Amino acid sequence: MGEIKKHVALMKGIGVSAGVTIGRAFVIKGRGLDLAHHDHIEGPEVEAEVARFENAINMSSDELTSVRKKMESDGRGQEHISIIDAHLLILKDHMITGDTIEKIRKERVNAEWALKKVTEGLLDFFNNIEDEYLMQRGSDIEHLANMVLINLSGRKRESLSDLKSPAVVVAHDLSPAETALMVKGTVLGFLTDAGAKTSHTAIMARALEIPAVVGLETITHNVDTGDMVIIDGTTGTVIINPSKSVVNVYKKRKERYENYGRSLFHYKDLPSETTDGQKVSLMGNMEIVEEIDSLLKNGAEGIGLYRTEFLYLNRKDLPTEEEHLAAYETIIRRMNPRPVVIRTLDVGGDKLLPDMATSDEINPALGLRAIRFCLKNKDIFKVQLRGILRASAKGPVQILLPMISGVEEIRHAKRVIEECKAELTDEGKDFDHKVEIGAMIEIPSAAVITDLIAREVDFVSIGTNDLLQYSLAIDRVNEHVAYLYEPFHPAVLRIIKTVAEAANKAGISVGVCGEMAGEPEYAIILLGFGIDKLSMSAYSLLRVKRLVRSISIKQAKELCSKIMEFSTASEVEQYINAKIPDLYKEEFWS
Ligand code: PEP
Ligand code: MG
Repeated sequence: MGEIKKHVALMKGIGVSAGVTIGRAFVIKGRGLDLAHHDHIEGPEVEAEVARFENAINMSSDELTSVRKKMESDGRGQEHISIIDAHLLILKDHMITGDTIEKIRKERVNAEWALKKVTEGLLDFFNNIEDEYLMQRGSDIEHLANMVLINLSGRKRESLSDLKSPAVVVAHDLSPAETALMVKGTVLGFLTDAGAKTSHTAIMARALEIPAVVGLETITHNVDTGDMVIIDGTTGTVIINPSKSVVNVYKKRKERYENYGRSLFHYKDLPSETTDGQKVSLMGNMEIVEEIDSLLKNGAEGIGLYRTEFLYLNRKDLPTEEEHLAAYETIIRRMNPRPVVIRTLDVGGDKLLPDMATSDEINPALGLRAIRFCLKNKDIFKVQLRGILRASAKGPVQILLPMISGVEEIRHAKRVIEECKAELTDEGKDFDHKVEIGAMIEIPSAAVITDLIAREVDFVSIGTNDLLQYSLAIDRVNEHVAYLYEPFHPAVLRIIKTVAEAANKAGISVGVCGEMAGEPEYAIILLGFGIDKLSMSAYSLLRVKRLVRSISIKQAKELCSKIMEFSTASEVEQYINAKIPDLYKEEFWS
């Protein structure tokens, strides 16, 4: 293995934040959990061991507190700071601290071993949750346990604060705290063994516009501090110790990428309109408030999808109505007068919330999630709805219901919304009486009955990420079936076409807020199907606007009618790849 390090190596991972970077690696090693040893202790050693453990907890807590202070003095947003607050809470929680102390006393083992065993038990639980985001909460616990173990050992973990000159950070995984401390310029990019598209780390990377590739599995074994690495965050490619000629190729690619990015700003204030005059709304997807700057800089016409579950995560309690209101008001104020689509809580039910009973669902993706969870836990749902409704008095807001499978769920949700409205009226609280309600179309059953759903709602938004998961029966977080994730699959194309036609016929607005909307080769198809509202990340906005301005709806429609004749995704892809350069010259597609 030693030889590999100094040889050129190419690795492929999940590119989560676009851009090219070339630099020396700074490897953060030292995973405490792997290093924990097993000792048996007796008599007075037991209480001494408990005290040693408590001391390590205090040291870790001090470390986090100083990170928090630094974040405050650097003017980091509340979103980042609250992650540290949540870590501080987890650190003091009985789940880790209490159980470890109990284990030391009962099993008469050393603190490292007790903590390792308690953490492994918790990780087993979190890793069995088939929700990519929630699985990441397991990684928060792992980070904290590692921090405590390192403090127990008296060793020092390399940290980002040891990074003196600009470098590419390489780590097994990065905690949200570490990622939140990253400064563009010092951190040229980062690479991790673990991670997925919706991890905190990935979200922060995109928000900070730092190129990043995650899910590399063995990058920490293949790279040493000081090695030269190239990251292509667009393709997920990593090259270790490249030759001079490869460096030159990537320097050019980086230059082209950056020039292209800059040239796109030319489109920021130009109308999003096809060459034959069709207006297309380009909206932003957001998870945390920090993304707003970037969305505005890239010309977002509003927020097309606010994933509010981020308000619920990383904390022990539930957000209050006032907290909901404050969060939504901030977004509305920043986006004013642009519209904001607030999606109601979309998580995997009680597994998320520590105070609630857990259920062992065999298929969590098909379980008590999103709207199903909210309708079952009406009190929790109402707190959020009241917050959204009150915020609607401050600016244009629309409510989006996730994971709708049929009309009953919409009617039920609307009854709850009406109940909230009646209460607010009684209490003399202001809200927009005509607030629009929409349904996510991301389950095939809903897609098929879009005509019936259209009678119940003001708009629909197609969530292609889940729609592909459910229609192609591929778990969207399982890397072994990732190859089946084919947006050009004829079934997917037919379903989207059906939804678009039904919504258009019914005269309600239809948009797409899944990842397909942000990729020009798919966006062109969506336009051809008659969809004129696309919501995407900041990175995609101007790229898609450029596409919109270079094609006519007539061309997009012709392309669509042609691709409907093909039998496989690869046939469609081949045709599109051959056709697109004539319609739309994307300099950076190579
Ligand atoms: C989707 O499913 O396409 C979507 C936009 O929602 P999420 O990715 O949050 O599930
Ligand atoms: Mg979804």
